[in-house]
Amino acid sequence: MAARPTAPPPSPPAPPDPRAELRELAAWQRPLRAGFPIVAGHPGLAYLDSAATAQKPQAVLDAVHAYLTTSNANSGRGSYPWANATTALVEGAREQVKEFLGDPDPERSSVHFTSGASEGLRTVARDWLPELLADGDEIVVPFGDHRANLDPWLEARDLLAARGVRITVRELPRQAGSGDYDPAALAGLAGPRTRFVAATHVHHVYGADMNVHRVREAVGPHVPICLDAAQSVGHQPVSLAGLDVDFLVFSGHKALALPGTGAVWARGARGPAFRPGGWPGTPNTAGIASLAAALDWLRAADVGRIARWTTALAAVLTDGLAGLPAYEVLGCRTSLAAGSAVQRRGSIVTFRHHGIGSQDLGFILYSHGFMVRSDDHCQAGRSVRDGSVRVSLHVYNTLEEMEELLTVLTNLQ
Ligand code: PMP
Repeated sequence: MAARPTAPPPSPPAPPDPRAELRELAAWQRPLRAGFPIVAGHPGLAYLDSAATAQKPQAVLDAVHAYLTTSNANSGRGSYPWANATTALVEGAREQVKEFLGDPDPERSSVHFTSGASEGLRTVARDWLPELLADGDEIVVPFGDHRANLDPWLEARDLLAARGVRITVRELPRQAGSGDYDPAALAGLAGPRTRFVAATHVHHVYGADMNVHRVREAVGPHVPICLDAAQSVGHQPVSLAGLDVDFLVFSGHKALALPGTGAVWARGARGPAFRPGGWPGTPNTAGIASLAAALDWLRAADVGRIARWTTALAAVLTDGLAGLPAYEVLGCRTSLAAGSAVQRRGSIVTFRHHGIGSQDLGFILYSHGFMVRSDDHCQAGRSVRDGSVRVSLHVYNTLEEMEELLTVLTNLQ
């Protein structure tokens, strides 16, 4: 029997025209932007550093004010009404985090509040990982992502070594010439002693979705995965139902809540139970109130639309930079959108000027009102010498800001 002709692989969908996206969403975005007092109060400035920390909407500020002026007390201790209200606030916020993340099994999972993603990752490394590991085991962690997702795993290795338990730390392999993980190399590397993988959801320099489902496929169903979701939660829809991970760690302050907020979500299925150690002390109750309000705000605003908005703004910027030979946009070339000469990523665009250092470029841009990040971005394995300028966006940013930035960058060529 003649072999049936195979159909050509489907071509990837064309990316939406960013300017059409922005036109379509403009009436939705305008009132949301107006709800950020620090943005509305500084018309000459453009805040382009939301990957470091995001601005806060009035609703979040109001929730903190309401909490501190009506029921501020400690949580889990007293039995008078303010204490009960605070305990209910903290416990309710745990459930809200699960719901916001689309937790498919909230009865079995737990949420632990932290001061941010760094503390969250360190808590998993310090209070859970050592119990999982025995002499001769291996863990696989990223060497080119945020330092917060490397240092704690190395510290855990050293702590275990001091107890006579030797573990091997392997690099989560990346594809040559790009920042993307390499699932084929990972599948070859993972063996019977591979007990744990740490990965990142969205890269904080490249803005790239790191395709964590491919990491799961490569290591099989039994290895626990800890996901650093600092750059995805609050920026784009994140659903645990579609992510077969065991820990999801995020920063509340990058998701519109107050500084000093974050959380670890733990599935509690593979490996020992997650019991963050030690006496917990007084939680950051006002911060947790802000996180609850921020998640409500994000849900009402529609995180999917926020992602469309910021992706379109980032596309305008990357398209513009592609036409300026003095600049190089950093990131993975392998995932160029069809029909586009430059890659289109989430809400982060990082670039370098061939003749102007990143610190100088940062100063020049601030003299024009643009607040950008200009250093090594806390990327593991990089130093300030490798500096670049990062523009990171949220719902309050606008097309006008991108166009004015491109005008300034063009004049600096
Ligand atoms: N991971 C990633 C990917 C990040 O971008 C950051 C913050 N820049 C962190 C971890 C650390 O987060 P935090 O500031 O909340 O400790």
